[in-house]
Amino acid sequence: MNQKVSAYAAKSAGAPLGPFDFEARSPREDDVAIDILFCGICHSDVHQVRNEWGNSQFPMVPGHEIIGRVTETGAKVQRFQSGDLVGVGCMVHSCQSCAPCHDHLEQFCEKGPAFTYNSTEMDRKTPTYGGYATKIVVREAFVLRVDPVLDPARAAPLLCAGITTYSPLRQWNCKAGDHVAVVGLGGLGHMAVKLAASMGAEVTVLSSSPAKERDAKRLGAHGFEIVRGPQDAARLAGRFNLIIDSVSAPHDYNAYLSMLRVKGVMVLLGVPPEPMPVGAFSLIGGNRRLAGSLIGGIQETQEMLDYCAAHKIEADIEIVPAQKINEAYERMMKSDVRYRFVIDIASLKA
Ligand code: NAP
Ligand code: ZN
Repeated sequence: MNQKVSAYAAKSAGAPLGPFDFEARSPREDDVAIDILFCGICHSDVHQVRNEWGNSQFPMVPGHEIIGRVTETGAKVQRFQSGDLVGVGCMVHSCQSCAPCHDHLEQFCEKGPAFTYNSTEMDRKTPTYGGYATKIVVREAFVLRVDPVLDPARAAPLLCAGITTYSPLRQWNCKAGDHVAVVGLGGLGHMAVKLAASMGAEVTVLSSSPAKERDAKRLGAHGFEIVRGPQDAARLAGRFNLIIDSVSAPHDYNAYLSMLRVKGVMVLLGVPPEPMPVGAFSLIGGNRRLAGSLIGGIQETQEMLDYCAAHKIEADIEIVPAQKINEAYERMMKSDVRYRFVIDIASLKA
């Protein structure tokens, strides 16, 4: 039997989110039904609710940092049972047969993965609804194990902010002795600081918010610099092996590229709505590299969750009821986030 779900949704681009009910499918043989406990608020939720990337579908139930408990499993499910603590990230399915899927890079599925929200199931008809909701039904292959040593609310942001920062640190072999800069101390940025520091790197936060300095050090950063434009770049020229850029708004990439050492790499994670120019000289000088990275595959997400459990790495969060989601969005727009808002889904059940 289909199950009634209480959620928060945006009904049109930029409209405030409000209560919304829908029905989740009854679990099929390979499905896991989950009662959601907590869901993080990612800046990608804000971009998509406001249709800043031009691909939004409404009504939209955002949310791809989902932690919950299994309530029911289909007959063929082997890895989970009722009561297990589990996570769901940015994807709920992919074709599972193309080359990227075979390489555990389902986010680049050639048919296009089924993203957790603002997307469709692989039938390309059924809309997907995310984690600002009481329940979700997901195929076993896209459900992650969450070690109970992790606090469920503080683990929720690992499902996007965690994997999105862990993956490029691994791709670019972050290690002891590396000088890593993290641009933007928000949800992604604060996870990048914790993860890079845990891998032994010397971490510097490049922020536009002077009030975040003390927190940056507490999170594991060794250095903190206010950077608001090219005028601030000169004193940091040639300093870093790796720059992780998590800024959600337009900013001058060339200024940050100048802070790379020879053969240094700057990885773009943030997705400002407008394109930004990169001068050829910014890359030619010093054989510098500009790269991007999109979340991470399911296998790597599990690896990251297990790494965080082993190193006791969790997000720093502010728990909010669903009724405060719109306020949380406004605060994120002002960089006033410390460092991830997480929705207590019990507030939707009242
Ligand atoms: P967030 O929590 O809102 O943090 C963004 C941070 O960027 C802010 O806290 C602020 O840090 C800095 N910032 C914001 N506006 C700025 C401006 N005008 N100038 C300079 N710095 C500014 O956002 P998030 O959830 O971490 O997401 C960050 C970006 O990553 C978003 O664009 C999101 O869509 C994207 N994202 C990408 C992926 C991926 O797979 N690549 C995954 C998830 C999210 P300071 O106060 O320290 O300056
Ligand atoms: Zn996200």
